[in-house]
Amino acid sequence: MSKVNVSIIGSGNWGSAISKIVGINAKRLTEFEDRVYMYVYEEIINGKKLTEIINETHENVKYLPGYKLPDNVFATSDIVEAAKNADILIFVLPHQYISHIGSQLAGLIKPTSMALSLTKGFEIAEDGRIELISQVIRRHLNIPCAVLMGANLATEVAGEKFCETTIGVKDSKMAPILYNLFSTPNFRVVISDDADTVEMCGALKNIVATGAGFIDGLGYGDNTKAAVIRLGLMEMIKFGNVFYPGCQLATFFESCGIADLVTTCYGGRNRKAGEVFVKQGMSFTEIEKNILNGQNLQGPETAAEVYHMLKTKDMEDQFPMFTAVHKICIGELKPDHFIECVREHPEHM
Ligand code: 13P
Repeated sequence: MSKVNVSIIGSGNWGSAISKIVGINAKRLTEFEDRVYMYVYEEIINGKKLTEIINETHENVKYLPGYKLPDNVFATSDIVEAAKNADILIFVLPHQYISHIGSQLAGLIKPTSMALSLTKGFEIAEDGRIELISQVIRRHLNIPCAVLMGANLATEVAGEKFCETTIGVKDSKMAPILYNLFSTPNFRVVISDDADTVEMCGALKNIVATGAGFIDGLGYGDNTKAAVIRLGLMEMIKFGNVFYPGCQLATFFESCGIADLVTTCYGGRNRKAGEVFVKQGMSFTEIEKNILNGQNLQGPETAAEVYHMLKTKDMEDQFPMFTAVHKICIGELKPDHFIECVREHPEHM
């Protein structure tokens, strides 16, 4: 039987961290082809191409410095070269770029391939509805797409510190191969068939984490942050019930739900950005450039996408935290409004 080719589309902090697991497992397990392609958006670092640096030093010096990538992970800036022979395409790009990359790859990949999205966010479709990133991938490429979401801060995963993750699959046939490709003693995979809820959780928690950062920036403590996490979780569950009928409550208690929410509200970039936004008055674009070394934030954009969706259904009042995060991010409300939102949240009534 021919071996399974794996490609990783994206090479930021999370893409590079996951390439360690995927690279090691692809080499270790006979069912996979050793070489794993990784699509890298080309940048010049100290006069040298990032792809060349990664292939020579096996380190992504820009987005995951200090961690060696397996030598069977091959970086290329040619998206078609990276994807054309893949049987498994792992998408791990900021959600802002998914549609562009999807349209570049349409018709150029193996029709028998499958996708897995690690990208957290939504997209607003032409008809105004919110689409999950896996739906965007399916729409462009016409292949099945599973998702992997969890409490997985990239540098901790790269440092092989134990964590759990959730793989959401609609087609159970995809589960065993994805389980094998990602499982390690330090990366504990749980499979869920409630894939849309798994993915929705991964997107929504970035809005709550931005709010948690506002709370830190305003000088509140851990009790307040716990309230933000709890109320945020309630809004996430409600959002699921309204927009993804049939979503299972149990899924919110998997790694993709409460665990990812907690870790991001304490250790994530969105939390950090929310804090800096309040304390230093920097715009999110400046924060991406000056504080995050060019990494893209997901929280403010996701808040805008979700707000758009709530507005079309006239439901802003029922999701006051999601709404407040968006309005604070765009400067329509002052950050200290956020505490009022927490204080007066309908969950207390
Ligand atoms: P940030 O983008 O906020 O760092 O989120 C990290 C994350 O998704 C951990 O699972």
